[in-house]
Amino acid sequence: MTHVTPSAAGIPQTQWRERYTHALMNTFGPPQRVLVRGEGPYVWDADGNKYLDLLAGIAVNSLGHTHPTLTGAITAQFNTLGHVSNFFATPTQINLAERLIELSGAGPEGKVFFTNSGTEAMEAAFKIARKFGGTSRPRIIAMEGGFHGRSMGALALTHKESYKTPFEPLPGGVEHVPFGDAAALEAAMGQDVAAIVLEPIQGEAGVVTPPEGFLARARELADAHGALLIYDEVQTGMGRVGAWFAHQLPHIGGGARPDVIALAKGLGSGYPIGAILATTEKAASALTPGNHGTTFGGNPMGGAAGLATIHVIERDQLLRNVTDRGLQIREEILALNHPGVAGVRGEGLLIGIQLAGEFAPRAVAAALDAGFIVNAAAPNVIRLAPPLILTEAQVSEFTGALPKILEMSQAE
Ligand code: PLP
Repeated sequence: MTHVTPSAAGIPQTQWRERYTHALMNTFGPPQRVLVRGEGPYVWDADGNKYLDLLAGIAVNSLGHTHPTLTGAITAQFNTLGHVSNFFATPTQINLAERLIELSGAGPEGKVFFTNSGTEAMEAAFKIARKFGGTSRPRIIAMEGGFHGRSMGALALTHKESYKTPFEPLPGGVEHVPFGDAAALEAAMGQDVAAIVLEPIQGEAGVVTPPEGFLARARELADAHGALLIYDEVQTGMGRVGAWFAHQLPHIGGGARPDVIALAKGLGSGYPIGAILATTEKAASALTPGNHGTTFGGNPMGGAAGLATIHVIERDQLLRNVTDRGLQIREEILALNHPGVAGVRGEGLLIGIQLAGEFAPRAVAAALDAGFIVNAAAPNVIRLAPPLILTEAQVSEFTGALPKILEMSQAE
């Protein structure tokens, strides 16, 4: 086999970092490590250090790294048919759309549009809302703390001012209300609202779960005013919280279904694919020929990755594992009774460890030095979004090391 990718062997991280600084735009700051290999929930850096990856590319590598079923499916697909234009269809694209509709419980009204990322899924959601609303419904209600991506439309839906200000003017008509505040949402509603947009559990805001009944109330208000209800499940979907979609957890969704679900991240377990899934006819029929498109969206490779991911989650009963490991993490962290921990929140394997102070960035650095990848979703919140294949022993590997990590980060 010919290798056209230069080997990382023998080149230390310091050199890679310097080359990164020269060759890549400074949008993310300096990389924490340069990673060269992964296997299961573990990754290795260019200096040979091993890490337990409890972030999984931020809720992406559901099956861990280099899962044989996934790499087998992707390789077989590329050896058969790698890409076709959207003038044509492929069986993997159709099969994956059907599976997603089935998992959402949408029934015959369900329809899918494939994208390459979560941002593009939310951009498509924005266009569905605009097209559905037309000129008589120019307003969209989104949530404070919400994150939906960085393209101009997705950014308009995103709440954080510092992300938006340098790029104004953004598409207009978007207003934000406090997440979980049903009265504020009700007050903002009117017959001129095209859609309510929310994450069933806010990820980037620091793993924030809404009060019980909030999503069901959002459904009622959308219905009362003839608006669409759009759930951004880019981070929470595809099994991450112990159900296929977070709104399917009864205490989160209250049994109500949205009109549109945005997916990406875990859908392809590391292969880039996103999707927008309309579950009602009014949302599914909003976009018509000529309204939207993408060259790579719906390509057979993404379809193969999505189908393999769903297959392994079902075959290995990973939704059950997610629930069990999530409970284990919570119990073991709380049992530490550590003064640095103020609480544990989230669902399944989307977890926020609330710290007793704003030292999450230092805790992340200490964890990395100790061989664990986590991130700071807020100054006082460590986020865990590990692969869904995580074992009981791997959870304890982390919880056993946590007291020392906390002490090191608090001491600084
Ligand atoms: N929506 C949510 C809820 C997200 O968490 C993210 C990414 O973190 C996005 C959208 C954007 O997805 P992507 O980074 O794949 O474009």
